[in-house]
Amino acid sequence: MTTHTGSRPRALSWPGRQLEDDGARRTYSTSPAAGRRRPGVGLRPHVHRIATELGLSGFVGNDGQGAFVEVEGDPLVVESFLDRLAADPPPLAAIERIETESLSTRGDDGFTIVTSDHAGGRDTLVSPDVATCADCVREMTDPADRRYGYPFTNCTNCGPRYTIVRDVPYDRASTTMAGFPLCSDCAREYHDPADRRFHAQPVCCPACGPALLLVDMEGAEIPGDPIAVTSRLLRDGEIIAIKGLGGYHLAVNAADEGATARLRARKHREEKPFAVMAVDIEMAGQLGEVGDAEAALLRSPAAPILLLRRRPDAAVAAAVAPSNRWLGVMLPYSPLHHLLLGHHGETIVLTSGNVSDEPIAYHDDDARDRLSGIADAMLLHDRPIHMRVDDSVVRVTAGRPMPVRRSRGYAPRPITVPWRFPRHVLGVGAELKSTVCLARDNRAFVSPPHR
Ligand SMILES: [Zn+2]
Ligand SMILES: [Zn+2]
Repeated sequence: MTTHTGSRPRALSWPGRQLEDDGARRTYSTSPAAGRRRPGVGLRPHVHRIATELGLSGFVGNDGQGAFVEVEGDPLVVESFLDRLAADPPPLAAIERIETESLSTRGDDGFTIVTSDHAGGRDTLVSPDVATCADCVREMTDPADRRYGYPFTNCTNCGPRYTIVRDVPYDRASTTMAGFPLCSDCAREYHDPADRRFHAQPVCCPACGPALLLVDMEGAEIPGDPIAVTSRLLRDGEIIAIKGLGGYHLAVNAADEGATARLRARKHREEKPFAVMAVDIEMAGQLGEVGDAEAALLRSPAAPILLLRRRPDAAVAAAVAPSNRWLGVMLPYSPLHHLLLGHHGETIVLTSGNVSDEPIAYHDDDARDRLSGIADAMLLHDRPIHMRVDDSVVRVTAGRPMPVRRSRGYAPRPITVPWRFPRHVLGVGAELKSTVCLARDNRAFVSPPHR
């Protein structure tokens, strides 16, 4: 039962945290500076859970300016609510400051998540895409789970974000999942505050979500289980275009000399190394030197391509990274990757789906046209990609991550600097692959590189 006091409700807002890595640094303050938070990281369900457990009434929501919360109840309980938020944020939350103010009481019953207010300003941060979490991997590999083998499994703690968001605030209707109405099971999860998928916008399952389709280069469906058949074609030395999170990749078996050399010739890519995807961290360690810092980055929510010092006996074909001491290695970061690599059991090359120096293909028709001279088959799905994003490339230098290409998993999260820009600043750079940076307040928004 809620106790109303004269000095109770609070309005809170969460500004986003912006760090190059996914370290645990958080700062809090009650400064009056305008605050924003990063939506799509499960803050609303998390707030709902804590408020409900404490018996507080009120609401949480997003508007164009970020998130807001009002809670009403005994002042001591309201204080413990604030303490819980600070001490126990959701796994992906980016809390920089918590701002509070006192409002007059309303006497509401219960705690609700209010629908997004589309009328507000448009100052909300969009979250980067997040690598599949351990809970989702477990479900996909559990024959008793209804998402067993489902290549689009996601939850509040993982899944596509930036690549599917068409507009803010971040709601399903504003994503490329808008065309996939929730089935009753998914709707129950979405509306259940105790569920890991409570208000997870891209939530879906085999009954209601996107599906895979394997086609030849004329567009004719290749019969059979798309993942099993793709694995077989890779073993046969074929080049497969795979639709990913932020664009198309081209895949071949990494140890296959003929297939990697053919891919290099068809892509007109004479020297630049190909990145590979290992099945797991142990296999990554057989390709290159993996210390604690490297392992943490490979397994991080950003899951970048990591440049590893190549082992002399690394089981990759000569054409993967000719005369290079480094090998770009990543781990599966989407449900499709987990299923494909889990089935396949061998390292694959996974390189941008383009002809050398062109941007990565990300629209289906465009991809078929541009990749028809390169790929032998295409593993497609029907979830549109709204934003083109390449894989990020990171190197560990003196024990710290050094971004070489800051893109998927990092973009569009801004970098926070310890000063305020007096006015908006635009930076443009590089001749071959241009990056744009727009700075305002204490944030620098660095674009993914564009060719
Ligand atoms: Zn998950
Ligand atoms: Zn469903």
